[in-house]
Amino acid sequence: MELDSLYQEVILDHYKHPLNKGLSEKYGVQVHHINPSCGDEITLNLSIEAGIVKSITWDGVGCSISQASVSIVSDLLINKTLEQAGSITDVFVELMHSKGMKEGDPTILEDAVALAGVSKFPARIKCALLGWMAFKDAAVRIKQLKESENRGSN
Ligand code: ZN
Repeated sequence: MELDSLYQEVILDHYKHPLNKGLSEKYGVQVHHINPSCGDEITLNLSIEAGIVKSITWDGVGCSISQASVSIVSDLLINKTLEQAGSITDVFVELMHSKGMKEGDPTILEDAVALAGVSKFPARIKCALLGWMAFKDAAVRIKQLKESENRGSN
């Protein structure tokens, strides 16, 4: 697999110096996602406060693309509203389905544009999406949790 060398550096940097790696003791929800086709595995803790992403911490093992991608997610989606985080996730998913035809908008995706080239390699797309899918799952669960808490207090 060949990616643009600048992008390769961004990915390797996140892989070697991952952001927000190490699970927080406190969290709203915890999810565990695996990508059996590659052997990638991550656990992600999400906390939100007043609809804003307060922390994303994670731990995991796997290929450089999966681990770099979750590092990027954990940095990019902090302090976003759940709605903003959801739409950024949608933009990234669309990029991954572009078969290499899209470059990605760095003003929205920041470091995640470095993963654009992965969309040309169908076998690796799940690696790049793992952290995003874990976040999406965690966001859905945390919303459900809040809703049932609200119902409980009525
Ligand atoms: Zn992988």
